[in-house]
Amino acid sequence: MPGNIMALQPSEKHCWVCFATEQDDPGAEWLSPCRCRGSTKWVHLTCLQYWLDTRLRVSQQPIRCQLCEVAYSVIFPQMGPLVDFLRVVDRTLTAIGPYGTLGLLVGTAYWTALSYGAVTVVQVMGRANGMMAIRGARPVLLLSGLPAIPVLLILGKTVRWNDCVLKLWQKCCYEPKLPSDNQQYLPPIPVDEPRGKRQFLTSRMLCGALMFPSIAVLTGQLLFPSVTSHLQRALLGGSAYVLLKGVLKVYFTKQLFIMHAGRRILNYGDVQRAERHRDGSGN
Ligand SMILES: [Zn+2]
Ligand SMILES: [Zn+2]
Repeated sequence: MPGNIMALQPSEKHCWVCFATEQDDPGAEWLSPCRCRGSTKWVHLTCLQYWLDTRLRVSQQPIRCQLCEVAYSVIFPQMGPLVDFLRVVDRTLTAIGPYGTLGLLVGTAYWTALSYGAVTVVQVMGRANGMMAIRGARPVLLLSGLPAIPVLLILGKTVRWNDCVLKLWQKCCYEPKLPSDNQQYLPPIPVDEPRGKRQFLTSRMLCGALMFPSIAVLTGQLLFPSVTSHLQRALLGGSAYVLLKGVLKVYFTKQLFIMHAGRRILNYGDVQRAERHRDGSGN
């Protein structure tokens, strides 16, 4: 076939991959695989194959000529039905791979959440009552309700009622009777966690949310030992814990705010003088 094309094309052949001419390599096989005209339509068979292989490493799309954009017709030899079947299997597996992994991950998360929910029910309601509740409930309710327990715990943790209380305090009760003379400047409510540690904060929130049932049960046993019902005791313990922690947190943040609002920035001369004084008294 290259011989026929050579007869139609009087101008000298020029490989657009390696830039060699017919004289450079008289024995080479030439192709004109696209709609391009003139001497630039020619390419060595081996050069084009090498070029196709490098392109195929980046993209699985049909490869086109970069100038005329005609797709190269590449024909593979027939390898028999077994190879065809194996290719279909291979492609299908590659295609469903990501979905399979995703499904597996979702499934694992679901069963973990379900187990966590069941453990929590038993923990909060007491062993006998918890087991009875799980056995008595409808399967649909169990399969949807138990995994919802950790989800609700985590969602509950995102309700930041402390911040609302603090904002309310700042709005209504905060009088700038602070050491600072600059009364016009109201600093923002500080966060006690340093910035740039978001992952750490998220893991702290997750831990807090998932450990909450255990903490509620423990607090209940500590503060309300006279309550006989497991569930009531856990609910009381949980509420007491949330309230106590909230009050402490509001107090802490409020104090941080007052500390922040009362800060002073020293003049450099004063700093130097203080250092000299300290050195002098130290010696
Ligand atoms: Zn070439
Ligand atoms: Zn072309």
